[in-house]
Amino acid sequence: MLQIHQFPCLSDNYGFLIHDEASGATAAIDTPDADEIMRQADAKGWRITDIWNTHWHPDHAGGNAAIKAKTGARVTGPAEVSRIGSDPDRVVDDGAVVELGGLKARVLNVGGHTLAHIAYVFDDARVAFVGDALFSMGCGRLFEGTPEQMWTSLSKIAALPRETTLYCAHEYTEANARFAIYYDPINRDLQARVAEVKRLRSEGKPTVPVTLDLELRTNPFLRAPLLKQSIMKPDATDVEAFADLRARKDNFKG
Ligand code: ZN
Ligand code: FE
Repeated sequence: MLQIHQFPCLSDNYGFLIHDEASGATAAIDTPDADEIMRQADAKGWRITDIWNTHWHPDHAGGNAAIKAKTGARVTGPAEVSRIGSDPDRVVDDGAVVELGGLKARVLNVGGHTLAHIAYVFDDARVAFVGDALFSMGCGRLFEGTPEQMWTSLSKIAALPRETTLYCAHEYTEANARFAIYYDPINRDLQARVAEVKRLRSEGKPTVPVTLDLELRTNPFLRAPLLKQSIMKPDATDVEAFADLRARKDNFKG
């Protein structure tokens, strides 16, 4: 059985430790804060055997070296991780299967935020670690890729089983909600989610993880094809609608 431990790191990242009870194998999904991740692993009594990176950004791979030095963990990730330090021990891209003890995860390329950004999908557990590709009611900024690439990436995530639990790497949900409700104001599922998020945050609770089912009903980027009227581009293609919404979000002062 896949055990998942989630905890806040830095100002708005989440750290994730995943653990296979049978073998004792433990992976840190990204390394936003090496000290905090080591502390959390110690508290759980888990020894970190692996680091699985989603992309090269410092708030995702910046703690690799320190954790590896302390634990000897093997680093798995896209080749771009070399950009912030050392090469991963194992380079993976779309279609690779990585194992944590007896548990298998499939690698999906979900590039766009960075070119080689990947997600780790545990098909059996119906769990996906999506890094900065998708956030609750949001998606990653297009620092490196094109709207076409990001739309393809989001479509891959959207095609997973609806009950899949998505672990996003940041708590950006409240700001995302303000944007979402502005362009999708009559969506009742979204109205309910916005209220839930407000309550959770006022209680200091995380809004992550989230199910794909809820995101399909509330995330304006996944819903771009349905929001063409709202952005006054009824004849736009789906990619054009997505690109337009992403650009609006970059400039949104909500
Ligand atoms: Zn990032
Ligand atoms: Fe990030």
